[in-house]
Amino acid sequence: MRTAIITVGKEVLTGKTINTNLATISRKLNEIGIDVNRSIVIDDIEEEYYNILDFCDSDLIIFTGGLGPTIDDITRETVIDYFQVETYLDKDILKDMKNYFDRINMKMEDTNDKQAYFPKDSIILNNNLGTAPGVIFKADNKTIVLFPGPPHEMIPMLEELILYLKNELKIKLYSKGFRMVGIGESSIEKALTGFYNKHPLVNVAPYAGVGELKYVFTSSNKKALMETMNHFYDLFNEYIYGNLEDTLEGVIVKKLAEKNMIISMAESCTGGLIASKIVNVSGSSKVFKESFVTYSNEAKIKHLGVKEETLKTLGAVSEEVAYEMAKGTSKKTSADIVISVTGIAGPTGDTPGKPIGLTYFGLSHMGVTKTYRNIFNGNREMVRIRATSFALNLVRKELFK
Ligand code: ATP
Ligand code: MG
Repeated sequence: MRTAIITVGKEVLTGKTINTNLATISRKLNEIGIDVNRSIVIDDIEEEYYNILDFCDSDLIIFTGGLGPTIDDITRETVIDYFQVETYLDKDILKDMKNYFDRINMKMEDTNDKQAYFPKDSIILNNNLGTAPGVIFKADNKTIVLFPGPPHEMIPMLEELILYLKNELKIKLYSKGFRMVGIGESSIEKALTGFYNKHPLVNVAPYAGVGELKYVFTSSNKKALMETMNHFYDLFNEYIYGNLEDTLEGVIVKKLAEKNMIISMAESCTGGLIASKIVNVSGSSKVFKESFVTYSNEAKIKHLGVKEETLKTLGAVSEEVAYEMAKGTSKKTSADIVISVTGIAGPTGDTPGKPIGLTYFGLSHMGVTKTYRNIFNGNREMVRIRATSFALNLVRKELFK
């Protein structure tokens, strides 16, 4: 459906008003797979309307602006005149307008009557926030839409137009997405320069959670949707752990079960969050038997064999302690893969060189123990959730190598 948006008004032409209506309307239409292929700004003089309508062969033409009650607002009568459609006076609208002027204690001028004339068989878009109703009508095999200029009046009408178009065009929308971990939204957006232009038929929406991210792709065009998702996957596959219905822990438990592996953890600052995530997955008993929450130094020594000397010289939040926690857990259990975490969740407890959010991880698999370091931001709860996602992602990456 070829679509044109015609913005009317001197204030837009002179730069006094930024044409946000164009962006709002285009984006909304894009979401339902309608590609806007033409946009023009015109002065509000009759000749300009005629020129543009002579030239415009689009199937859907949307005007915004110049719909108000004053003498300089001529969109409605000019467009109706151009298409020579039959009109009628809508008495209900006229009454509503009279009430509106009564409410704001103003006399309704005769010129206001013109706002109550509509093309026959048109759909009226009520305006509860101003005087001028919008309208959708058909003429010359085209769909013509007239919206007022003020964005807060236009937006509710745009919602109505979207519903109308979806229904009219029997638009079926397809929606799919990816769940991601280990990368922030701003890094993705930076890497997506040029991506959006290549995929104009697909709406791409990011949703940021704590420690996780999802990208949802929506389009009425199945092929365009698949192409866009494949392109996105090529760019970010190392961070993508599944589809919208997946969870990070679910993906891990499934893989562990497939590989016949047992997982165990040693947690300090996350206090059991990682174990809890795993246990959330139905069927986790096949892959999870036991884990340690060793919050104090004594517990780390007693249950995991962390050396007192290491704790004393390097502190509980250190690479070596993460390493020894993972090693100790491997020794104590029959786990095939072990993840350990020790960090400063805050808001207190930071020391010179060890800021809040600093966290070390140990990962033991097939006799090899590796360590990782990261600094998480946010409050205590967010640091703990982010550290949990990070730890689970380390396990995922190891399992999917
Ligand atoms: P009104 O009854 O308010 O006169 P109208 O439909 O006649 O409504 P205009 O007179 O064209 O609309 O514009 C009214 C105001 O709406 C402008 O001063 C401006 O603040 C805002 N506006 C108009 N067009 C746009 C646009 N394209 N994008 C953003 N704001 C706009
Ligand atoms: Mg106006």
